[in-house]
Amino acid sequence: MNAYIGPEKIIEKKKAFLFPCSHHFYKNPPQIVKGEMQYLFDSKGKKYLDCFAGVSVMNCGHCNPEILEATIRQMKTLQHTTTIYLTQPMVDLADRLAHVLPGDLRRSFFCCTGSEANEGALLLARLFTGKRNFIALNHSLHGRTYLTMSTTAIPMWRADPELDGCVTFVPNAYSRNKPLEEAAVESLEAVEKAIVSKNTHNIAALIAEPIQGNGGMITPPSWYFQKLKTILEKHGILLIIDEVQTGFARTGKMFAIEHYGVVPDIITVAKALGNGMPIAAFCTNDRIAPALTKPSASTLGGNPVASSTAIAVLDYIEKYNLCAAAEKLGHKLKEGLLALQKKHPIIHDVRGIGLMMGVELLKENGQAAAEETDFILEELKGRGILLGKNGLERNVLAFQPPLVISEEDIRFLLEQLDMVFGLIKFTL
Ligand code: PMP
Repeated sequence: MNAYIGPEKIIEKKKAFLFPCSHHFYKNPPQIVKGEMQYLFDSKGKKYLDCFAGVSVMNCGHCNPEILEATIRQMKTLQHTTTIYLTQPMVDLADRLAHVLPGDLRRSFFCCTGSEANEGALLLARLFTGKRNFIALNHSLHGRTYLTMSTTAIPMWRADPELDGCVTFVPNAYSRNKPLEEAAVESLEAVEKAIVSKNTHNIAALIAEPIQGNGGMITPPSWYFQKLKTILEKHGILLIIDEVQTGFARTGKMFAIEHYGVVPDIITVAKALGNGMPIAAFCTNDRIAPALTKPSASTLGGNPVASSTAIAVLDYIEKYNLCAAAEKLGHKLKEGLLALQKKHPIIHDVRGIGLMMGVELLKENGQAAAEETDFILEELKGRGILLGKNGLERNVLAFQPPLVISEEDIRFLLEQLDMVFGLIKFTL
């Protein structure tokens, strides 16, 4: 291992050797050197309550000993070979996933990242339907590859100025100035319109996140996805649900789409499946899976170490009932945030399900409170809390802690938030 160099030198090295596109949240970002379940430690020994979990990755906590044991055991036995031979962990994982996936979804194709999983899902939809085009929602983020970036609406995540024109974007269930239900109805009307318009015939699938993470924790009303599915079915269009950020107990159910009572045609998973180990998958039913016929496999996707880790993740979620924990603690967090909203007028909206919660901040004049959002993040960091932010205008506080967080941690977070919100009018 290289000798310790410290945060300043890391920034220098980043500037010298990485691409300039990497960005930070803080003026002086902490150098994280250690993780222990819901806590992170920086190079100066400061302890933080992690309320971001590496963007919904570390659902089972940092360096979770039970999961690490499975990873290390597999690493010491067999790390990697090729899918041309037979290995057990990947098929065991596929079997386990089949038992927790919604409805008739039971076939998995393993890869390494969320982008890859979505790329595969989009390809599968094309192969199955024989159609080329897609619908995606405003505020969406589906990945960094060409097609997934093409289905990504958030301008800051669309690095390529000339993305594929096969995607039609429609309004999502969000509006700052009108009730959510109204915005959701308009979103569905826009989907229907896009389908029948002569420019957007030939649509293979609509891709959507059940709760839009980077888009600002946009949470459609409970009836939205059922109505959406009915519209799509009428036109022979598949529904791809991107659970990359919402999957694996984050919202109080194994998958967020379960809150909506809908079984999608294809579901994509990544992040929390590996709890820090790169593993992802697109999953579908027996009817659609045979459309992918050419020999196709990802070199490292679902390798023995990643698969064994993911099995241990599923074991851990079940053993400690993390769905129930996320539901219960999510209620506590939401209750607390709603109480803060009554007190602090900068809080425009509190939304989300379980431990996937967003707080949208607006200034008095109704504009996005982006500087205030940064101020809150900085203040909380000083108080030992790492929180996220997202939204098109970077004015949504993102609460996505490891699901092993305690009630005491939530109380501490809410207390500190209350104090920091109280500082805003005096400081800015
Ligand atoms: N889908 C969603 C909803 C995401 O949040 C992300 C990443 N933030 C991706 C896809 C892409 O995943 P990855 O970075 O693993 O490629």
